[in-house]
Amino acid sequence: MSRRNFIKLSGLVAGALAFPIIDTVDAANGSKRSNSLRKSTLKLRFKPYELQLKHVFTIATSSRTTTPVMLVEVEYDGLIGYGEASMPPYLGESHKSVAEFLNKVDLSAFHDPFELETILAYIDGIDKGNYAAKASVDIALHDLLGKMLQKPWHKLWGLDATKTPNTSFTIGIDTPEVVKGKVKEASEFKILKVKLGRETDKEMIQAIRSITDVPICVDVNQGWKDRNMALDMIHWLAERGVVFVEQPMSKYAIDDMAWLTEHSPLPTMADEAVQTIYDVLATHKVYSGINIKLMKCGGMRNAHKMANMAKTMGMKVMVGCMTETSCAISAAAQLAPLADWADLDGNLLINNDLYNGVTIVNGKVTLNELPGIGIQLKHA
Ligand code: MG
Repeated sequence: MSRRNFIKLSGLVAGALAFPIIDTVDAANGSKRSNSLRKSTLKLRFKPYELQLKHVFTIATSSRTTTPVMLVEVEYDGLIGYGEASMPPYLGESHKSVAEFLNKVDLSAFHDPFELETILAYIDGIDKGNYAAKASVDIALHDLLGKMLQKPWHKLWGLDATKTPNTSFTIGIDTPEVVKGKVKEASEFKILKVKLGRETDKEMIQAIRSITDVPICVDVNQGWKDRNMALDMIHWLAERGVVFVEQPMSKYAIDDMAWLTEHSPLPTMADEAVQTIYDVLATHKVYSGINIKLMKCGGMRNAHKMANMAKTMGMKVMVGCMTETSCAISAAAQLAPLADWADLDGNLLINNDLYNGVTIVNGKVTLNELPGIGIQLKHA
């Protein structure tokens, strides 16, 4: 296809009109391939979408009921790879910024999707930041390659699909009564993730412990300001079946965090303090481990590198997510056999998922054998 004929979307409205939700090929099985001798090119399409949350979601710094995402497709030789960018407001990306970034992406020069390092280096070099936008193309390319090879990514990475951890289910900050209701709804999960970082921390834990003994992990989202108070709180939490503490203090409190990690009876996990692969080294001996999210680090390629880097340094690995459809969740789940913990519940928090993908069976992240990132459109 010539550069001139390449469909270049000029903005959100054009993107919305051009994006075909219904496939013309059975992409998941890769059964319909073009036999044309013409040189195929990679074609990128995208469309904004708004995720509707089942509950108002409150963390230490904000509350919200919707999350904007961008749905992305990369097509090559009749096969379609799916990707997604999720933009919770605190990350600083938006429908507008992601559309602007994706409009700069010109894949028409690439004729071989297997040149993944080259293509992703080109995308990374378009502009700094924009990690969710970059992740959306990265995920779609991985999905496409997996479909071309007829293999899911956990297999291509040599991972054992049975070695996935249980996923935590996130309980936002709320009143004890609402918290109890949410915990009852989450009875199939073997580990709960509780958002802390306000004056009501102990009330939240006590409300949960009044109805269940399942392990809890807590995410403070930088909410604790004093390291002695933080250490006292971690001791209190350890006595109540908490298994690790995520981002207890500010990402800038490096000396305090190193002290806290050294003295803490529980592992400490970096989340806000670790965005990309370039941050991993700086978390060594400051935190016990890192929370890897595709939207923070730019996609599956970097996430896989970060997981291996952290494990090589003896650190714990957690695979997390934003509020996302099963597209980005299933992409992240391909890494789950490498993780000590998974927090892949973002698709379970929404009412309007567009895909079927990885599932949670008896609390455990359960990978399927579908090629690529393991998803199919719900209404193909
Ligand atoms: Mg977190």
